[in-house]
Amino acid sequence: MAEIILEGVTKRFPDGALAVKDVDLDIADGEFVILVGPSGCGKSTTLNMIAGLEDITEGTLRIGDRVVNDLAPKERDVAMVFQSYALYPHMNVRENMGFPLRLAKVDKATINAKVEEAAQILDLTGHLDRKPANLSGGQRQRVAMGRAIVRDPKAFLMDEPLSNLDAKLRVQMRTQISRLQRSLGTTTVYVTHDQTEAMTLGDRVVVMRQGLVQQIGAPAELYDSPRNIFVAGFIGSPAMNFLNAALEAGVLRSPVGDLPLDDRMRQALERQKAPREVIIGLRPEAFEDVALAHDRDRTGPAFAATVEVLESLGSDVYVYFTAEGGPATTTELEELATDSGLRDTGAQAAQQIVARLDAATRARE
Ligand code: ATP
Repeated sequence: MAEIILEGVTKRFPDGALAVKDVDLDIADGEFVILVGPSGCGKSTTLNMIAGLEDITEGTLRIGDRVVNDLAPKERDVAMVFQSYALYPHMNVRENMGFPLRLAKVDKATINAKVEEAAQILDLTGHLDRKPANLSGGQRQRVAMGRAIVRDPKAFLMDEPLSNLDAKLRVQMRTQISRLQRSLGTTTVYVTHDQTEAMTLGDRVVVMRQGLVQQIGAPAELYDSPRNIFVAGFIGSPAMNFLNAALEAGVLRSPVGDLPLDDRMRQALERQKAPREVIIGLRPEAFEDVALAHDRDRTGPAFAATVEVLESLGSDVYVYFTAEGGPATTTELEELATDSGLRDTGAQAAQQIVARLDAATRARE
């Protein structure tokens, strides 16, 4: 079993900086776990402690059935894949991929067989005799993956492995890594600052901020039930809207419409002292019938707002608007409106939209 268990893991650097605070995390054998958060939140330091590249100040780290706090990196049987790939420029692909096995004094025939097998998986068979300088970014990244695979380690530890690739290649490699991890079934811990990568790759995602774990959960769980405003705002693109609202007679009055409250929330809010101001979080897709104000007359619980910017991404249009409770975004501009010349975006500022909360949100208890 190659589970990875962190109990109360803390890192204080010699200069006093507290980079990681009391992290508890159980990673199951074969699980793909993503550490995500803004720059400086402690995700690389956490990964480096698992790899053995940083000492652990406090807490216990187990890999498989061993406590590894005091084991050197090479004794932990984990393979690291870095953003920089860290390939040797003077070695060809075959030698780069076989290097960890040569270090471990594995015999030549076995090394060859393992390298060939990994090259097959990674579609590198035709490039085995090339030097890294003669490979594309995506191919180099695959060589770095290959070097990790040949060792058949207990775990893969990946630190932003895709961040040097262009956007298109990043999406391709993301799919490859996902497929590869599933077929090998190797426990994987993957660091990224990119919430899209986190949401699409991981079985579970650990959201960190300022050295503290904010929430651990499956991607859908983080999206649907964020535990705090930070997670709510960090996960999802475009980001969740936060608007000021007030509690009045058991209903939340918001600038974009009234929202019902379930009993638990109503009681919790009523226990608070006046004024009963709250922040509501609405996903950009929580609106419907969004249209330019002149497009049609509205009936029902609608609101009007001023458009700041319209961004057309081809398939989607993002509408950035200002409601009374603050700025907000929606992705739900109606097809009808988008067809009528709206793709010419810059000119759309200062237009009015009318919209309403979608039925599911209006009815949500
Ligand atoms: P990034 O996405 O920018 O790489 P990160 O989430 O991986 O960020 P870490 O590199 O783990 O963050 O750093 C966490 C904190 O620890 C930061 O405040 C950083 O400045 C600090 N830190 C990192 N390495 C050291 C060090 N060697 N000495 C002192 N402080 C450090």
